[in-house]
Amino acid sequence: MCGITGYVGTEDCSSFLANSLKNLEYRGYDSVGVALLDGTLQVNKQSGQIDDLSLPSTTEATCGIGHTRWSTHGPPTDENAHPHTDCHGEISIVHNGIISNYGDHKRDLALTHEFTSDTDSEVIAHLLEEELVDDTDLPQAVRKVVEKLEGSFAIAVAVAGYDGIVAARQDSPLVVGHTDTAKFLASDITAFVEQTRTVTFLEDGDVAHLTEDNLSITNDGAVVERDRQTVDWDADAAEKSGYEHYMHKEIHEQPHAVRQSLSGRIDSLTGDVDLDIDAPIEYWKSIQEIQIVACGTSNYAARYAAELLETHTNLRVTVHVASEYEYRTSYDPWETLVIAVTQSGETADTLQALRMAVDSGARTLAVTNTVGSTVTREVDQTLYIRAGPEIGVAATKTFASQIVTLTLFTIHLGRQRDELESETATELLKNLHDLPEAIQTVLDGESQVRRLAERFAHSDAFFYIGRRLGHPVALEGALKLKEISYDHAEGFPGGELKHGPLALVTDQTPVIALLTPGSEPDEMAKNIKEVQAREAPVIGIGVRGEASETLDTFLGLPNLGYITPVLANVYLQLFAYHIANEKGRAIDKPRNLAKSVTVE
Ligand code: GLU
Repeated sequence: MCGITGYVGTEDCSSFLANSLKNLEYRGYDSVGVALLDGTLQVNKQSGQIDDLSLPSTTEATCGIGHTRWSTHGPPTDENAHPHTDCHGEISIVHNGIISNYGDHKRDLALTHEFTSDTDSEVIAHLLEEELVDDTDLPQAVRKVVEKLEGSFAIAVAVAGYDGIVAARQDSPLVVGHTDTAKFLASDITAFVEQTRTVTFLEDGDVAHLTEDNLSITNDGAVVERDRQTVDWDADAAEKSGYEHYMHKEIHEQPHAVRQSLSGRIDSLTGDVDLDIDAPIEYWKSIQEIQIVACGTSNYAARYAAELLETHTNLRVTVHVASEYEYRTSYDPWETLVIAVTQSGETADTLQALRMAVDSGARTLAVTNTVGSTVTREVDQTLYIRAGPEIGVAATKTFASQIVTLTLFTIHLGRQRDELESETATELLKNLHDLPEAIQTVLDGESQVRRLAERFAHSDAFFYIGRRLGHPVALEGALKLKEISYDHAEGFPGGELKHGPLALVTDQTPVIALLTPGSEPDEMAKNIKEVQAREAPVIGIGVRGEASETLDTFLGLPNLGYITPVLANVYLQLFAYHIANEKGRAIDKPRNLAKSVTVE
């Protein structure tokens, strides 16, 4: 999920690799490493910053690969940093993404190979070692390895005694840069934008062989031609893959982020999930209550999940604003599972609440995006959301990935406790499985949202209403808008309108109404009438049906059952983004806000 870089040409590449990794630094990472090929292979890698990596200032190496790691499997340690090598230290690989079937490969390979890391990635080096015993054609051997891999990956390989670099991608970006004397490889153009803007984007299934003066690509075994293009992006635009803001890029990364959250975790035939959390069935059966502690967007994701958890596990589930948790009275710690949801794993208020729970003896689970973060060291179990680094201060893709991961947890718990039928689980899993593609269709409809944003950008205030699963999404939609546009926005349950907020509704206050499955659209139709009577413009979001018929402005969604509100949220993110953009706000760094709130 972080960065890959590579070079093959005529010059010493060590300083290029260090520099290109620096250029990829903005993507966020926890470890770094390079492999240099000058006849033999030299690997330098460690957890921590690029500046701390000791690289020889000059080398004879004219070929090499580099990596910034954002850990998904195994903590950020020196051993887990990439590149990984085979048993003889001759094959080096770097990998971004997740190999979801690494466990099976590792089990087989471990009989005859020595593993030195906890990562999923290392299997690639050992699988390639096996292939290269009989096959001396490196691109072909990589192709055979790739055929055995499931999950999402961008891979680069450099092997002692072989010419050039071989790269492969599946659901993770890679781009090749060309000059007269060299080829460059990277996760995005930023890595080599100072050297060239003539590029070839690799596509899913491509296996590419880069040599000093040639790029040959195969896909599914057949040779393919990919266009060379010249991009006119400057370094700043390249960092954002051509998007003007990280937030916009991250909204568009959601299909990928969700795929990563799901990767290798679902068995849609049996309705079971495999979450890598090892507690016996009795542990899950004896839980009597769940409390979730979280702040901001994570809190809203938790509220969404709480609704599903209660329905499918038959447990009492409460969600607490973490900073308020300390004021509550006691509970039976032995039978309570406390779940801390925090994107960064460092949120001070959430850690404080969690520590109270730990002190009183509760069982604990962390749901976070950051491997090795503080929260993971203080809980019994951790579930990673695997959204990849998020740079924009306003959380977007992590909200979707938190809900997806917590829904998987719901299914796990429901199944372990015999409260969730396999058919219901299978249906939920199907909806999760279809989510990335459905998000893409929402993203494809962005121009419609942009026009709406232009129309409403000058409004005084915005109200977001939803019921049930639509309620946390209404809260999140309003939060997104206030964070980045600085407009007044409020979210509340549709039924609450008449208990106060209706006093503020006028023809100048757009009301955004969630009409998705799981948001009780028929009940919502009554609330829509209440605001229409005050001449408020209404934007409905949901699956077309009776409730949508009275609305001039309606954003339609595919029906993904109880996951549909997550899709609606993508429209809300785009709406907030375009309003803020209309107003020229500092979208990635809104005033007074920080990405990771490490103070109480
Ligand atoms: N899954 C791999 C790991 O944990 C790669 C992570 C990445 O994309 O940086 O090492």
